[in-house]
Amino acid sequence: MRIIQTSVAIVALAWAGSAAAQNTTATVPPVIDVHMHAMEDVPIAVPFCPNQTRFEASDPKDGPEAPFGWSKEECSPKLYPAPKGQYRSMVLAEMERLNVRGVVFGDVADVQKWQAAAPGRIIPGTAFDKVEGSDPARQLKMLEVAFTQQGFKVMGEIGLQYEGISPSDMRVDQYFALAEKLDIPVAIHMGTGGSGRANVAMPGYRGSMGNPLLLEDLLARHPKLRVQVMHAGYPMIDNMLTLLQANSHVYVDIAGLIWSYPRKEVNRYIERLVDAGFGDRVMYGTDQLVWPGLMAYSIGIIQNADYLSPEQKRDILYNNAARFLRLDKGK
Ligand SMILES: [Zn+2]
Repeated sequence: MRIIQTSVAIVALAWAGSAAAQNTTATVPPVIDVHMHAMEDVPIAVPFCPNQTRFEASDPKDGPEAPFGWSKEECSPKLYPAPKGQYRSMVLAEMERLNVRGVVFGDVADVQKWQAAAPGRIIPGTAFDKVEGSDPARQLKMLEVAFTQQGFKVMGEIGLQYEGISPSDMRVDQYFALAEKLDIPVAIHMGTGGSGRANVAMPGYRGSMGNPLLLEDLLARHPKLRVQVMHAGYPMIDNMLTLLQANSHVYVDIAGLIWSYPRKEVNRYIERLVDAGFGDRVMYGTDQLVWPGLMAYSIGIIQNADYLSPEQKRDILYNNAARFLRLDKGK
């Protein structure tokens, strides 16, 4: 597994390197990353090997237990955190080099900093407060102003699963009603997130609330709502396919999933989505958070997928997101 991992990384680097050698992004096919976060420095960040092959058990008697279950296999090269103060500029440089536009989610002021630094590369997305303890009227107003006056394009990342709340819960219906009224797509976290240790790190998280079929009642109430199921509802593939069959306004992103689960499993999941006939609704994304090299690495996973045709790769890396976000219609 290590050998495969390294060879894919090298191919990814070579592909990116040749793009740099040509010294112009005009010759690099455009990519859209539909799932980024307006982070700055992450002080606790460490070098990381993506696509670990195992999640390990832990014993509450041994405490303190690690918050993630990754097995800590080594790789070369690792993904490295940015030096202090350089995260944003390094990610933006990667976006320039790889010809990426990205939907960046975050608080309005944070996203605007990214936009100011690279206006042509950033598609602004909102942040979404926790439901418990937040002020719904304030949040609703913030979202309305962001979409109608500040040029924001996507409502996200809606992380209800971390609170154990269904997307069809009536407490959040007003936000989705607003999105439908304003014709703004919504991006909802569904699926990944436990990373093997929800029991240790995230007591409110419920795997069951990542079931894509929980969206059905919401979609029935809001038939025009456009939904991006973040992390593609992993690993509930049958329910994900059922939802995609029944609702043609639903797309998925493969962010997070693409680097935080075993590679064979990631490829099998993407292949299943495409083979089931939904190749025009799978969107590339990273969940870009900590490591500037993650973007090139994740693009490499798609570029090296031998089960995808060149056309299917372009659909995942660009065409599907451009259609979902209506970029071609100047929105
Ligand atoms: Zn997420």
